[in-house]
Amino acid sequence: MSADERGTGGVRFGFVNSYVGLPERFYARVNPTRVAGPKLIKVNEGLAAALGLDARALESAAGVEVLAGNVVAEGSEPLAMAYAGHQFGHFVPQLGDGRANLLGEVVGVDGKRYDVQLKGAGRTPFSRGGDGRAALGPVLREYVVSEAMAALGVPTTRALAAVLTGEKVYREWSLPGAVLTRVAASHLRVGTFQYFAARGDVEGLRVLVSYALERHYPELVGSEKPARALLEGVVARSARLVAQWMLLGFVHGVMNTDNTSISGETIDYGPCAFMEAFDPEQVFSSIDANGRYGYGNQHHAMHWNLVRLAEALLPVLTLEEGSEAAAVEAAQGALAVFAGEFDGAYAAGMRRKLGLFTPQEGDVELAQDLLERMAEGRADFTGVFRGLAEVVAGGATAGSYGMTSKRAAVGGMFAVPERFEEWVERWRLRMAAEEGVSVEERVKVMRGASPAVIPRNHRVEAMIRAAVEREDFSLFEEMVRAVSRPFEEVEGLEGYRVPARAEEIVRATFCGT
Ligand code: AMP
Ligand code: MG
Repeated sequence: MSADERGTGGVRFGFVNSYVGLPERFYARVNPTRVAGPKLIKVNEGLAAALGLDARALESAAGVEVLAGNVVAEGSEPLAMAYAGHQFGHFVPQLGDGRANLLGEVVGVDGKRYDVQLKGAGRTPFSRGGDGRAALGPVLREYVVSEAMAALGVPTTRALAAVLTGEKVYREWSLPGAVLTRVAASHLRVGTFQYFAARGDVEGLRVLVSYALERHYPELVGSEKPARALLEGVVARSARLVAQWMLLGFVHGVMNTDNTSISGETIDYGPCAFMEAFDPEQVFSSIDANGRYGYGNQHHAMHWNLVRLAEALLPVLTLEEGSEAAAVEAAQGALAVFAGEFDGAYAAGMRRKLGLFTPQEGDVELAQDLLERMAEGRADFTGVFRGLAEVVAGGATAGSYGMTSKRAAVGGMFAVPERFEEWVERWRLRMAAEEGVSVEERVKVMRGASPAVIPRNHRVEAMIRAAVEREDFSLFEEMVRAVSRPFEEVEGLEGYRVPARAEEIVRATFCGT
């Protein structure tokens, strides 16, 4: 082994860094801060392979030094990105990576460019009062939930690795510290644009627009009006993203503009959670007192964030359009894309969940009727939708009025099973109106749209407790396995499909930053 290989942990990332090539005011160059006792928790082998990285090298002692931030890998040019953001509606002109460190970018085997970032890597010029660190619990939560989202087919940042730092972090009490290696299409946020807009830095905005287009919307590069093209692209992707969240009962929890990605990925998993008992107003985050980011508000929150993006882009739109009035009109035109994209994605997703193949008027109302009945008795969101596939598989919708055990099982999740039975009759008639679709086809689509496994909150909490209290990562390992195949009913992992018992229900999640 050459001295060079030792010095970089023998880990070859093959960094090709573009962000560091942007003007210096876009970031601060800063190395991760050393930690006392790095210890590997996990390397994500599948993701490592997808990035063309050697998982064994990452797992080696030298690799762990890199993942903990103690050694700067060859080709890495560590930096903290500058950004601003609206936090719960209040604008903060400077946030930035206060505890994250962008090591560099790698090109995956798919030919796409990805950011590799350490989260919890120490203080940066953007840390304000913070310690730059992350606690173990939130690191494990982000690992599990982001991997679940990826397996569920939702655009998301991913977890490449997690390590312990051997140091304590102090929140309400002392907790083990950890570092998450996060992989994202990029870490550009709505707040990145707001940072330059707040400074009247129109040139910075223009540079950012073309960088974002090249990186995330290459098909739009060369367009005559790049800012408008970018805005439309972000609006469309973000609308579809939030529809996917809602179709899975996912609640992000902190949809601030600094946590809203330009690439259309789910980013910044904090007090996020999958809803169990259905309640359209469900809020988990202990810091979201007004329910601003509750389940049923998420599309409004996303739209609000995109209006902030349009505002930030206004100076560039004005240059493109020739006048401010025309720019406002262009912005409104781009924002108007949201409703159609969201409604379309939501309706298509609900049709798949209900096993419907040909769009018909009234489909969304049919789904809405089911959701209302679910809300009456707080039926389990994931359980009911997955159960519908089993009801179809059991033949109880094919024309017979007979009860099957599957149908009774789903009915049992409702406060009054008859409320479900009434709805099944409506649903059955709607399906009967579609000719030539076999039961098998329906079941296949339904099982692919409604997971059997989500990271249920009580299980996430139990997994975190075992890790924090006993350094026992066996539940974490098991949970990663369970959520990685969410549409299958894997033997030995039955427990991951069962809702919390009354005494297990988790009512609030905490940022724990
Ligand atoms: P978040 O709520 O995690 O999205 O973070 C909001 C802002 O606070 C970002 O600028 C973060 O970098 C910063 N931040 C969060 N936690 C810490 C911390 N422990 N130390 C320094 N900055 C932090
Ligand atoms: Mg954030």
